[in-house]
Amino acid sequence: MKIPFLDLGAAYRELKPEIDAAVLRALESGWYILGPEVEAFEAEWAEFCEAEHSVGLANGLDALTLALRALEVGPGDEVIVPSNTYIATWLAVSAVGATPVPVEPDPATHNIDPDLIEAAITGRTKALLPVHLYGQPADLDPILAIARRHNIAVVEDAAQAHAARYKGRRIGSHGDVVCWSFYPGKNLGALGDAGAVTTDRADLAERIRLLRNYGSREKYVNEVQGANSRLDPIQAAVLRVKLAHLEEWTERRRTLAAAYEEGLKVSNLILPLVPSWAEPAWHLYVIRNQKRTELQAHLAENGIGSLIHYPIPPHMQAAYEPLGIEADALPLARRLADEVLSLPMGPHLKASSVEEATKAMLAAR
Ligand SMILES: *Cc1c(COP(=O)(O)O)cnc(C)c1O
Repeated sequence: MKIPFLDLGAAYRELKPEIDAAVLRALESGWYILGPEVEAFEAEWAEFCEAEHSVGLANGLDALTLALRALEVGPGDEVIVPSNTYIATWLAVSAVGATPVPVEPDPATHNIDPDLIEAAITGRTKALLPVHLYGQPADLDPILAIARRHNIAVVEDAAQAHAARYKGRRIGSHGDVVCWSFYPGKNLGALGDAGAVTTDRADLAERIRLLRNYGSREKYVNEVQGANSRLDPIQAAVLRVKLAHLEEWTERRRTLAAAYEEGLKVSNLILPLVPSWAEPAWHLYVIRNQKRTELQAHLAENGIGSLIHYPIPPHMQAAYEPLGIEADALPLARRLADEVLSLPMGPHLKASSVEEATKAMLAAR
């Protein structure tokens, strides 16, 4: 592809001297599990997210799973999830033995529709798990109000929303626990797997800290049946370097998104709707069109990469056959899966590439 969907090599090359030095520092430190690099990153990440606490973990799925465990969500409980999300959101609920209860999105934002949540709440509902899909913040105020009314927790899946803001405040501490992935392709990406939670609740931070390390505060003394899900200090050192550039790299994404908007507003494609209260992180720039398959093929012929997030909704995956949800029971999730297309996006995408992709898309009509 002349214009790849995402160029992770370019991100490394821009910061190579800094990243190489940070990795060497971690290697030479003699600390290879937890320790000062992880603690420093946790402090810096909490501050960036305007949150009181951060706990570094092995990946984003573990962040969601340990957040639910810390809230004592388990077998027999239900957790409300978006019907339209990456399957990890659902898998975390299943991993603790609870049942994911899907709620359809607002068709304009693709995020969970707060107006549909209350009807899905039962006596077993233990938590709401909104996702800030594509880096567009979900409408948190009504979600938090519903949670307060029913005395249930809010866990946010912020794996795509690094640096996004909701009503001026950074995503990171609105709900009880906010879960992050630093998978390499995310807006803040490690050079391997990594994740974290942020929270204002000291009790939950402490619980997750315990759970990530075998349920042990003191070596060989195990208070609970914990997991091994520690953030790797080498990845923490890399993340500290990249965090210092996150603001600037998010700004580049904003500029590119604005250029797509400007170029494509004359087309008949459905473009991302940004509510007035949202400052998205632009993890993905997702358009919608009924001729998605033809459009993607046309882009590929022109050397332009694109991806589908996501081609099969969780309820239609073989993995979730046991829940027995009919494909048509969640028509919007199904329809979005057939119509969405993610255009090239990333801090190293050139303005000229956005122009070229835009031209190719207009020529396809
Ligand atoms: C990436 C992602 C995850 C999982 O993160 P990993 O670090 O890959 O485990 C969870 N939810 C969403 C919405 C994601 O995009």
